[in-house]
Amino acid sequence: MLLSLRAIWFKHSQKKYMEIDEIKNKILDEILKIEKSIVEYKEQNQPIAPDDSIGRISRMDAINNKSITEATLRQAIQKSKDLHRVLSQIGTKDFGVCLKCRKTIPLGRILIRPQSLYCVNCAK
Ligand SMILES: [Zn+2]
Repeated sequence: MLLSLRAIWFKHSQKKYMEIDEIKNKILDEILKIEKSIVEYKEQNQPIAPDDSIGRISRMDAINNKSITEATLRQAIQKSKDLHRVLSQIGTKDFGVCLKCRKTIPLGRILIRPQSLYCVNCAK
């Protein structure tokens, strides 16, 4: 019994070891993507031109678009922070563990949403 448990643990840790680089690359990929978006959102978030240079309607459009961009920008910055946090946790006991219930977050979820700090149940 003990032996088979140990074999399972060994198999699991080998698998984990092989996947760490893959997970790291995936997270780095996501960080690059999100940081590129942040730069784009910031560019879109430049001060709005005064009334006389663009029409009143398009100025209102610009204001509406700006508030959408600001919300998107905030979300993107948060996602980037979460990704950096997950990245720094790789190889530690906190990696892939739900912040709330301390259960292991399935690898599939980490790969799809690397920034998720909670398991599916706690994220609801
Ligand atoms: Zn949980």
